[in-house]
Parts: sequence; C-alpha cells; structure tokens
Amino acid sequence: MSTRIIYLDHSATTPVDPAVLDAMLPFFTSGFGNPASIYSLATDARTGVEGSRKQLAAALNASPDEIVFTSGGTESDNTAIKGVFASCASGVGPHLITTAIEHHAVLEPFGTLAHTGACVDIAPVGSNGIVDPEDIRKLIKPETVLVSVMHANNEIGSIQPISEIGRMCREAGVLFHTDAVQAFGKLPIDVKAMNIDLLSISSHKLYGPKGVGALYIRRGTKIGRLLEGGEQERGRRGGTLNVPGIVGLGIAASIAMQRMSLESETLKAMRDRFFDELLDRIPDVHITGDRVHRMPNNVHFCVKGIEGEPLLLALDMAGICGSAGSACNTGAVEPSHVLTAIGLPTNVARGAMRLTLGRSTTWDDLSYTLDVMQEAVSGLRALSAIP
Ligand code: PLP
Repeated sequence: MSTRIIYLDHSATTPVDPAVLDAMLPFFTSGFGNPASIYSLATDARTGVEGSRKQLAAALNASPDEIVFTSGGTESDNTAIKGVFASCASGVGPHLITTAIEHHAVLEPFGTLAHTGACVDIAPVGSNGIVDPEDIRKLIKPETVLVSVMHANNEIGSIQPISEIGRMCREAGVLFHTDAVQAFGKLPIDVKAMNIDLLSISSHKLYGPKGVGALYIRRGTKIGRLLEGGEQERGRRGGTLNVPGIVGLGIAASIAMQRMSLESETLKAMRDRFFDELLDRIPDVHITGDRVHRMPNNVHFCVKGIEGEPLLLALDMAGICGSAGSACNTGAVEPSHVLTAIGLPTNVARGAMRLTLGRSTTWDDLSYTLDVMQEAVSGLRALSAIP
C-alpha cells in the first residue's frame, strides 16, 4: 500500500476547510445554546444561524427568509418534491416532471409520488448528458405543478441549461426545482435571474461539514413541510437546528464564492490537460459526457475492455481515491442509471471511472495518477475477457 494519498473523489465529499472548522468550534462549547430559547445564552447560537442564512442568501441572490436549513441534499430534495405535491389540492392527479439522470434523492421521491396519485414524466437526456429544454416543454401540461432538473450531474458532470428551463417553467406557471448539490459554490447561481423556485444545497460538497444543507424556497411558494414537529425555521421544518453545522455551511459558502472564478479556471485547465494526456497515453478510452458544458472538476471516462472496479482497486493500492461510477453505486454490478440514460453500451459503461478534482489537487498528483493508470490498464486488459 502507498503512503501517499491522492484524493480525487471531491464529488462524493470534501474535507472540511480549516477556516470552516474554526468558525464551528465555539458553537460546540460556549455558544451551545438552543437558538429557539429566549435567554441571552442562546443569542450567540441565533446570531450564528442568522449569519449563515445571510451568507447563503447572498451566494444565491436570494433573501435570508427564503433559506431553510436541512440535514443535507437528500432532505432538501425530498422536501422540495414531496412538499410541492403535498400542497396541491386533491382532485386531478398533479403532474410532475424530472429527468433520467437525477440523483436518487430526486428519483426516489418521484417514484414514491408516482405510487401515491401523482403523474410523473421522466425527460430523456442526450448522449452528452444534457437535457434539451424542448423535451421538457413538450411534457408540460395544464396539470403540471413541478419540474425538477439538476444543475450539474454528480456522475458525469454535465451542466444543464437551467436558465432556459427556469424561464420556460415561469412562463408556463410551473414551479421549478433544481438539485444544485454539485453546482452550488462551483458555478455562479442567481435564483432570480434563473427563475428558480426551489434549490437544494449540501454542505459537505463544498468543504463544509456533513449532515447539513439548505433549501431555497422562493417567497410565496406553496410547499408542505416534510419534517413535522416544532415551529423552527418559521414553521417550515421542525427540529432543533444543527448550529455548528449551519455556521460551517455559511462560512464554506462564503469561501467558495470568493474563490469560485480562480478555482474554476485552475480546475478546468487541469481537467482538460488530464483528458488530453489520457487519450494520448491509453488507447480506447471514451470520455463520458460533454467536454465543454461540464463541471470544472469532473473527469469521467470509460476504459474499454476492462471493469472499473479492479482499476479502482489498482489506484487505491497506489493511494489514489476515485470512484467507479457515482459513489452511491459503488459495488453495483450494473452500469449506473446515468450511463444507461446517455445510451452507453454496457460493455463500455462497465469500465467507467470518475475522478473529481478539488482544492488540494496538483498536476503532479494527476500526472502520477496517469502513470499508475497506464500500467494498471495494460495489466488488466491482458487478463480481461470483456470485448
Ligand atoms: N444530489 C446530488 C446531485 C448529489 O450528488 C448528492 C450527494 O452525492 C445528493 C443530492 C445528496 O446529498 P447529501 O449527501 O447531502 O444527502
């Protein structure tokens, strides 16, 4: 086993930024109060939470009262989708639209609603992993209440035409939700200019702590609450707030906004150089998704003739952390729903590999990864029975 660790799985999760941790620590000790209490000990906690709400609102061009804190991306997605459905008057089955490449945190609630009286349509995506807004437009009908399209795909990094879809939904009077878990803090987002009604955020994808996130809810949007209980978050989400986590999320978002443009340029340059050298050095590699409209940090490709899993293990032996598909599907034998949706043949999709770069990534790390991969691929191909 190598002692050198090269972490290339930033879409699965990120390490907490030391400045984020520093900001969180006092809220475990002196500032431990419950923000819902009225005595002065709770004031610090309340101030921390409200500060974070302002930081998130500023990052989205929203108002602080439009931010609801949650336990992460999964809760935000569930709340947006099930909450809109719950607020619909009973009668004709409400119609909801999503896409074939969403995260399971969106697809599963859609599946549940389809069994409880909703009509659901799943829009296709092109072979580049991008949704054609026309395909969404064709699916909208008078009963449509919600369109949910992710901003950036977690597996292949494809970036969706969110502004166009938002405009179309607003014109049609349909609510628009976007799962921005991968995009927030990495791509510019303006909920007003992009006509977004609901937007999901997760802290651990942007160097914040795990188990905390937020849902942007445009003022005036009718939405039921998923977690019933106390009157926290102005009655929109019951449960004592995770104060240190929320403070961490706010700081993480502010840091991400400051660094976004420089970081994005640096990552894009490394990503593109990696792709070029990969194609030069390893024959029969397929780059998955769109090379331009893709996340600055996303390197996804399929190595023909081998399985992704043994390649991942070979990388792990050399201290390199990557993913053979989406993190959630690791261990699954079938190609992921995303690779299937973009029409990749199974024998190609089986050799899928996702490397996601981050703040700590250097070209030296990537160059070493290419060396290790080149050797591992020729060894695995020599043994492989895959055509
Ligand atoms: N949506 C997307 C696009 C994701 O990538 C993830 C996590 O990988 C989630 C939702 C779920 O977020 P969380 O881990 O905060 O529940």
